[in-house]
Amino acid sequence: MDSETCAKEPQKMDFQAEVRRVLDIVINSLYTERDIFVRELISNASDALEKFRLVSLMENDFRDKDLPLEINIETDEKENTLVIADTGIGMTREELIENLGTIAHSGSREFLKRLAEGDSRDAQLIGQFGVGFYSAFMVASSVRVMTLSYRPGSEGWEWESDGAGSYTVSPARGLKRGTRIIISLKEDAREYAEAGRIKKIIRQYSNFVPFDIRVNGEKVNTVQAIWARNKSEIKEEEYSEFFKFLTNSFMDPMYRLHLSSDAPIQLNALFFIPAENPERFGFGRLDPGVNLYSRKVLIQQNARDILPEYLRFVKGVVDSEDLPLNISRETTQNSRLIKKMSRFLTRRLISFLEDEASRDQEKYRLFWDKFSMFIKEGCVNDPDSREQLAKLLRFQSSRTGEGEMIPLADYVGRMKDNQTAIYYLNGPSREIIEAGPYLEAFRERDIEVLYLLDPVDDFVMTALQEFQGKKLVSADQADLDLPPAEAAGGSREVLSPEEIRSLTAWMKEVLGDTVSDVRESRRLVDSPAMVVNPDRMFTTTMQRVLRAADKDFGGVGPKVLEINPGSGVIVRLARLREKGADGDFLRSCVEQIADNAFLAAGLPGARGNMIDRIYKIMERALESQAQ
Ligand code: ADP
Ligand code: MG
Repeated sequence: MDSETCAKEPQKMDFQAEVRRVLDIVINSLYTERDIFVRELISNASDALEKFRLVSLMENDFRDKDLPLEINIETDEKENTLVIADTGIGMTREELIENLGTIAHSGSREFLKRLAEGDSRDAQLIGQFGVGFYSAFMVASSVRVMTLSYRPGSEGWEWESDGAGSYTVSPARGLKRGTRIIISLKEDAREYAEAGRIKKIIRQYSNFVPFDIRVNGEKVNTVQAIWARNKSEIKEEEYSEFFKFLTNSFMDPMYRLHLSSDAPIQLNALFFIPAENPERFGFGRLDPGVNLYSRKVLIQQNARDILPEYLRFVKGVVDSEDLPLNISRETTQNSRLIKKMSRFLTRRLISFLEDEASRDQEKYRLFWDKFSMFIKEGCVNDPDSREQLAKLLRFQSSRTGEGEMIPLADYVGRMKDNQTAIYYLNGPSREIIEAGPYLEAFRERDIEVLYLLDPVDDFVMTALQEFQGKKLVSADQADLDLPPAEAAGGSREVLSPEEIRSLTAWMKEVLGDTVSDVRESRRLVDSPAMVVNPDRMFTTTMQRVLRAADKDFGGVGPKVLEINPGSGVIVRLARLREKGADGDFLRSCVEQIADNAFLAAGLPGARGNMIDRIYKIMERALESQAQ
């Protein structure tokens, strides 16, 4: 039927069968989250305005040229009505029947199926399947739609329904361009006739709709969809204001990244890194900080799947036209599109930080001091981004000053020609690392060693395994492949291979199972002995961390005691033993050498009564001085 022949009287028409089923569910089964009907109708109004904006760019003859593009909402508590009006594209009679009487979207069958399955009597889903308009019937006893198409010469129409199987269409005079939806509220939905209630819902869901939304004449949405605007037109203060709004804070952000992309995915994203990290102050674990939008309509707050969890400190907005409205939690988790977006955004964020780090090192240092825990978490948990994240890491080293930090690339850049690995030592402080025996071999060879002062660093290194093709190696490992050192200057007395064999075998006997082996060290320069790890993956530091976390973590794993055949203590020990000196005393010395080595490794001494033993040894030393 075309508009020429239609009657001037209201004409009654039946809803398509599928619409009837949707309406039946909406009216009879959806009782929770009724607020979302406001979002759905505003989203439709916003779409209609957006479409009009587009056609007005391409055509120049249309209705009500001077009408501002806006959404006007009126509440009337006395009449128990809510009116949502836009000055958008409007609908012709055919469009009205087509759009509000049938379901064009093929998704509706899916929607019905999911609702029938019962697990999701979830109103949130309704917009996802292109049936958002019908959500009005959650709260409406009847809905009237007055509409005038933008097309020149069009006439106004009124559509009305109580949602029960049919609707009427009749001509309407005196309309301006756009659509006016008049909802007579059900008795149990009177709350939606209160301006305060409606404003609150708008601020929650529709604050960034790019058109003014007024409630009873008062503008409600304060913040524009700044992420969708052209970067060059946005003032710094506007970004800052938006950030403050987003985070409910008064501080300016530390970093900002504004992205637009058309391929491989259409999206606009605006990310901020705040000036502070609340997790550092024990505020508990942060919620994800990014809100997901589709065409400027909020579809998920604190979206879980749009960025990996370790990027939860990033605040902002992602808006993609490719996303269906009201995509649900379960759907984002499994959506290939979201996964693709997440990968894309993660890459961009990390490379943004990389750029910032080289652009302004001092500022990046502030970032690192506050947010390094997240980057390290990512190194451990995100194998896809590990390599990229490694570039963001910063460490002190044996070449830096106290507190100064370098990226791994700087280390690699100044590695010795014959050096094959990146070496690191983990310890509670610079002083303690430098006082221990492990650095000696590196000092002698002039090889840089990274100082890992954060217990998690060890897990990070173990996860990374290598950087720019160079293995990351803990300097407390047994089988270090170090280039040969310059020959140690001659005069020192050194044990012969035979003496070493005999001494190490005896020491192992004395120490029993507390060490897995006693060997000659090729690394030590000054210290008599040190404990090294035969196990590459399970480093001493890692064991230390596990012990700190769990007092019952008993085993420290097999340990090898390496002795220095050039050390005065070791040489004298061997000589006295050859002379058949007091076996008990020598055994005490061996135990003390081992305990000292364990302590230097940050591990508890494996033998008891150390203090007694030290006194006994001192007594002997004092005695020999007295003679
Ligand atoms: P969707 O928005 O996903 O298309 P809806 O059920 O929300 O599904 O709306 C159905 C259709 O009705 C829309 O696609 C649009 O063509 C039309 N429509 C709804 N509200 C308006 C409006 N305010 N102005 C113009 N057209 C509208
Ligand atoms: Mg819609």
